[in-house]
Amino acid sequence: MPISYTQSRVGKSDVGKTSPDLRQVVRLLISANHILHQHGLVDAFGHISARHPLFDDQYIIASYDPGAPALVSSVKDFIEYYTSNSEPVQKDQPRGYSERFIHGEIYARYPAVKCVVHSHSESVIPFMAAGFQIKPVFHMAGFLGAAGPPVFDLTDLYTRMNRPAQDMLIKNSFLGKELAETFFRAKDSGIAVHPVVLQNKHGFTCIGSNIQQAVYRAIYLQNNCKLLKDALDLAGGDVTMIQFLTKDEAEGCEKMNWMTQDKAFRLWLREVQVNPLYQNEEGAPEELPVGGMQDDSWGT
Ligand SMILES: [Zn+2]
Repeated sequence: MPISYTQSRVGKSDVGKTSPDLRQVVRLLISANHILHQHGLVDAFGHISARHPLFDDQYIIASYDPGAPALVSSVKDFIEYYTSNSEPVQKDQPRGYSERFIHGEIYARYPAVKCVVHSHSESVIPFMAAGFQIKPVFHMAGFLGAAGPPVFDLTDLYTRMNRPAQDMLIKNSFLGKELAETFFRAKDSGIAVHPVVLQNKHGFTCIGSNIQQAVYRAIYLQNNCKLLKDALDLAGGDVTMIQFLTKDEAEGCEKMNWMTQDKAFRLWLREVQVNPLYQNEEGAPEELPVGGMQDDSWGT
């Protein structure tokens, strides 16, 4: 049974609740799949999910059947999973992504996270292969923080797991929990988390407090890596020549990134809407507000 816009949960007070929010999330999720493909962040592989807008203990992600994020087109292409174990909410669902544990364990660990993107970006992976720490070189990537994202490495975990099949995939709760924990930044606050975790020999995963923020972070992480590669080429590979954002600059830019992300998303949305490769049978998302720098409200 596909996701229904009239949701019900036996024994709970929200039985029969109809959710325009759910329709909007599904529309956004379909378009976000297309945007990530258009920007080269996903091909046949890679995925994006959203926390269920009605049930905090569930998330929504495309099934394996459409074949690729570019081909996701309908609510019927999605499956609801429980965050606690990444088991489908409804019986007899089609095949799902083996790496859905990335998503489930992050949602279970961080209640504020509403969207997760996982990518095998070919602009990002070479930095880990070469042992270069990714740090922000321009203002649009201030959200990375001056020190850059942490790197998750499976090698030690494989040793602890008695050397199972080492295909680099996060396909069980144990590995998903280890990856989720890598996002943790400040153990004393219990709130602040890294927006991005790099995955050695694999790709990266990023999170957002909404779909727009997670997509923004994926795109500008990749753009930052392209610029950093260009800068390293010009500097003859000498990383000491590279001028990265300072701590204060990164913090200031992170705030700006939050305030302007909606503007970028509206452009990306329009680009996929006019491209016939991408179909969204659920209709266009409702118009999204554009905050901009005059708006002082911003999230953490
Ligand atoms: Zn992967």
